Amino acid sequence: MRIIHRLEEMTETARGWLAGGTVGFVPTMGYLHNGHMSLVEAAKRECEISVVSIFTSPLQFATHEDYARYPRDVTRDLQLLEAAAVDVVFLPRSEDLFPADFSTYVTLTGPLAAQLEAAAIPYALRGAATTITKLFQLVRPDVAYFGQKDAQRVALVKRLVHDLNMDIAIRVLPTLREQDGLALDSRNTLLLPAERQAAASIYQALLAAKAFIEQGELRASVVEEAIRQRLASSTEVSIEYVVICHADTFSPLTLLEPKTLILIAARVGSVPLLDSIVWLGSNLWSM
Ligand code: AMP
Repeated sequence: MRIIHRLEEMTETARGWLAGGTVGFVPTMGYLHNGHMSLVEAAKRECEISVVSIFTSPLQFATHEDYARYPRDVTRDLQLLEAAAVDVVFLPRSEDLFPADFSTYVTLTGPLAAQLEAAAIPYALRGAATTITKLFQLVRPDVAYFGQKDAQRVALVKRLVHDLNMDIAIRVLPTLREQDGLALDSRNTLLLPAERQAAASIYQALLAAKAFIEQGELRASVVEEAIRQRLASSTEVSIEYVVICHADTFSPLTLLEPKTLILIAARVGSVPLLDSIVWLGSNLWSM
């Protein structure tokens, strides 16, 4: 397994990719769990070369406090990636990717940007778009892997790749969960025991919405109310927002249609958590 810190070395390495076959790329913020590893395994299975990046972009966090306390353990991450036989781990330094004189940003506009911003997305949209564009430029993957849980990131990346004519296929994989349904998340370790227990209600609320829809309920307002009611009983969980919209365009829906995204952003104690499912029509779900 090759570990690359320097941007020049990443560029040099990517220059040689063509001869080696297709490149599968898994961008992460580190503190890896089985959710990340399921993306890594898919990249290993489907591509000749696997690359994982670990970079906690300061541009992507709502507050400095949230950035500062984001869990990190690079030694453990490298052990997991070594055991998974990943070919390249890219660990850029923040000051190299974003030096003091950095001044070119990727800005999303239009309806999707408006929807994401209206949803008070818990990380800066421009920061996320710029960071992923830079990682794509440096790694030059053929396929990039993302988790369904972070539906906003998926919509953003699909839009960006399409608009900027990047020749990268985007693969979206299901969310891995704890036994009680809580989506695996690096931030889960920040939860206090009572909060950890309460956090499972986010998934329970999504299941409540799912049950309503499977019974034929298509009014978004009713589905949203079911979610809010399910979460109202938990004092530890406060809803930041609930989004019911088209999964690709993020246009809000009054009546649900196939490919509807149902997303909950909540704070459990002080920890921001996200979970989402997509209704594909009849009893089909991506979750
Ligand atoms: P992060 O390190 O949180 O930025 O996540 C890196 C990638 O892993 C993103 O594409 C996430 O959507 C994905 N991911 C995070 N949690 C899970 C999970 N529980 N199941 C599957 N994929 C996940």
